[in-house]
Amino acid sequence: MHKFRRPREGDKLTPYQGNKRVFGFFKCKCGKTWQSGNSWANTYQECKSCTKQVYPYEQRPLEVPNLDDKVDKNKPHLQELCGKCQALGRLCRDY
Ligand SMILES: [Zn+2]
Ligand SMILES: [Zn+2]
Repeated sequence: MHKFRRPREGDKLTPYQGNKRVFGFFKCKCGKTWQSGNSWANTYQECKSCTKQVYPYEQRPLEVPNLDDKVDKNKPHLQELCGKCQALGRLCRDY
């Protein structure tokens, strides 16, 4: 029998389980990969290609040297793809 488990409250859906914004690495089943400087614990981002909800497979603190440089700060945050923004109803960066 095929078992499908829905995410529940308290489930660890991401490697990082803290309260801070971190740097996340995403890989969708469709093959698309991306990185985001607005990644949160137990929070998905939607894939730009197939709109699937994807949880980061790796997360690192933003304080790690050189890593934050990879994030283009002038690039607008894609709120419609961000699970945190959708949950908050506003820009997660200001959280
Ligand atoms: Zn995808
Ligand atoms: Zn966001």
